Amino acid sequence: MSAHQQVQHLLDFIDASPSPWHAVASIEVQLAAFQFVKLDETAKWALQPGGRYYVVRDDSSIILFIQGQKPLVEMGFKIIGAHTDSPGLRVKPNAASGTDGLLRLGVEVYGGPILATFADRDLSLAGRISYKNVQGGIASLLVKFDQPLMRLPNLAIHMNRTVNEEGLKLQKQNELPLILSALAEEQLPHDCFSALLQQQAGIGSGRILSWDLAVYDTQKGTFWGAENEFYADSQLDNLASCHAALQALLDGAVLQADSTLVCALFDHEEVGSESRRGADGSFLTDVLQRVALAAETDKEDFARALAKSFMISADMAHAYQPNFPMAYDPDHKVFVNKGPVIKVNANHRYSSESVSEAMFAEWCEQVAVPYQKYSHRSDLPCGSTIGPITSAKLGIRTVDVGNPMWAMHSIRESAGVFDHDYMIRVMKRFYSE
Ligand code: ZN
Repeated sequence: MSAHQQVQHLLDFIDASPSPWHAVASIEVQLAAFQFVKLDETAKWALQPGGRYYVVRDDSSIILFIQGQKPLVEMGFKIIGAHTDSPGLRVKPNAASGTDGLLRLGVEVYGGPILATFADRDLSLAGRISYKNVQGGIASLLVKFDQPLMRLPNLAIHMNRTVNEEGLKLQKQNELPLILSALAEEQLPHDCFSALLQQQAGIGSGRILSWDLAVYDTQKGTFWGAENEFYADSQLDNLASCHAALQALLDGAVLQADSTLVCALFDHEEVGSESRRGADGSFLTDVLQRVALAAETDKEDFARALAKSFMISADMAHAYQPNFPMAYDPDHKVFVNKGPVIKVNANHRYSSESVSEAMFAEWCEQVAVPYQKYSHRSDLPCGSTIGPITSAKLGIRTVDVGNPMWAMHSIRESAGVFDHDYMIRVMKRFYSE
């Protein structure tokens, strides 16, 4: 595939994945063509050398693995980690309210989005609904509205005269509810919203019990730039890294590797990872332990295998935007289309250290992929990733890397076409080591 074809594949993946629950479902669809077997955490696992497996926890985190041909204790695990969630707005439980002839939905801010970018966009809803089925049991299903359903209209400049000097500030409780529809006087807001959800989900009246609903932007991904050298979409942070890791794992040569290969994609990174399905939960440890147990690896050999293991924590990086030179350390500018970024932070907001940094740089050189190094401005607090969390929990040597992008946490982010191909190439190199 050419670099542009790879990115088109990525944009199709993102557009089919407007919530972390949909991202995992989209990944499962891709896996079907590659003979991956889905494992149930409540069942006993019988794993075969060379076997391809995946486990889903709570519908929005997924761990894929391929059992190595050689013993675990000799080869260790080769892990790439990323996250399935993106910051944004989530619908509250008693969301629907009616005032002034309008039905509005109350939302909560999830993680740290740039709120102003949600104004005047063609927004809609996607997520997971739990309901009572005809047998009286509780079932869940994914729901997605394709058409623009909601909007956050800006205040006209005539009522907000300083917006260009002070920026668009949105008060989270009162100024974020989204306009969903016109409401007649006799209509009850909650009933209207429930009816809409029931109709879209195709389930009977009065049966919805709860939901996890994300607000998303219906605008599809696109290429841009004079040579189509850039692309834009929502959720590049971090579905672009999930996609790169998955494409690397599904490469023909990689699928036959000697090492046990793992691709761990977690929800909840944007809210600190501390949950049952987050990177700070037990999911990855549980899966790695069970892989080792199935191969009759004893406790000491499991510890030896972890000591031999390596993890790439892949999350997007901040590309230089020349309109804002003061936002960057002038000696650590990283550029779109100049290759994957190794992220370094002395306070360990990133897990990289000199050895893991050198190993990643060497893999890049072996496959003729350029790379860059990023360090945040010393006088600005630095973001973090799942890298420090998983490496601390498991004791696995880790490097934090990611492709350069603009407008991280905007509802419309953008990045460079060639970087995506570079990242896939170096990830394949790592997996086939
Ligand atoms: Zn991220």
